[in-house]
Amino acid sequence: MLSVIIPAYNEQAGLAVTFKTLEQVLASLDMPFELIFVDDGSVDKTWEVIQHLQPVDGNNRVHGIHFSRNFGKEAAIFAGLEAAKGDCVVVIDADLQHPPEKIVDMVSLWKQGYEVVEGVKEDRGEETGVHRGFSKLFYRLISRFSGLDMADSSDFKLLDRKVVDALNRMPERNTFFRALSFWAGYSRATVRYRVQDRQFGKSKWSTFSLVRYAMRNIASFSVLPMQLVTFMGAVFFIFAGILSIIALVQKLSGRALGGFTTVIILLMFTGSIIMFSLGIIGFYIAQIAEEVKRRPRYLVSEEYTSEE
Ligand code: UDP
Ligand code: MG
Repeated sequence: MLSVIIPAYNEQAGLAVTFKTLEQVLASLDMPFELIFVDDGSVDKTWEVIQHLQPVDGNNRVHGIHFSRNFGKEAAIFAGLEAAKGDCVVVIDADLQHPPEKIVDMVSLWKQGYEVVEGVKEDRGEETGVHRGFSKLFYRLISRFSGLDMADSSDFKLLDRKVVDALNRMPERNTFFRALSFWAGYSRATVRYRVQDRQFGKSKWSTFSLVRYAMRNIASFSVLPMQLVTFMGAVFFIFAGILSIIALVQKLSGRALGGFTTVIILLMFTGSIIMFSLGIIGFYIAQIAEEVKRRPRYLVSEEYTSEE
């Protein structure tokens, strides 16, 4: 069986269309499927829409999971992974920006023995220049920091049961699905796709939430920023050494007065570096604090299964 996970947050406008499209595309595979719609605490009618979905073919089923509030796309994906019963699992957006036809290619690669099939963006659709620039920067940073090359990757993927089980065993809360499937390894293939324009509704990401997402993910995948603090300390130590020698020489040669500018600049500079460093360290501590609470990643308030 194939499981398809569809995280949905305020997607009432198009969910029924997405469902129909998926059903049609997947019918061409000779394999029963389950569609797992994870309603990430939508405030519109998304959950009502999900509860009315009924597959045409009785071999297939719809499973709906309704969160008690908005926990974010990552949580929705992981809830789907835990609920999935299929031998392979596909994660796809609810807004049809990931072309469903590509699932057929993914499944055929899976049948050839690949355990992870990555959907790789051919172009970035309608994203604006600034957004594109930042996302390039983010992927370059995270690829450099974590040593995994993740340029142009997305959440559109197929995972074998083995990989899903491996991800389900991961204890951490702050997950980054895109990168974890890289981290896990396994034999992998890629399918290139063009990002479609959003058919209905609008993007659920604000610039602020994207920046936060980027910072969290970098922190959850690399401690390099913290080592940067040590590095800055070392650079400063060298500077301090040079300046101390200059100051001493001036003092001994009786030319000690003056140098007010140097003092001010140094003071500001050290101050800002220290605060900056504390910020970085604080960020990691915050992540640790969140992890040790061991709170569940999401809370389910209702579930729905289409009748057999
Ligand atoms: N999504 C979600 N929870 C959120 C935000 C988004 O489950 O808090 C889902 C959303 O319904 C969609 C997918 O994640 O299926 C991608 O979201 P969106 O299209 O808004 O992002 P973009 O395509 O602009 O990156
Ligand atoms: Mg989208």
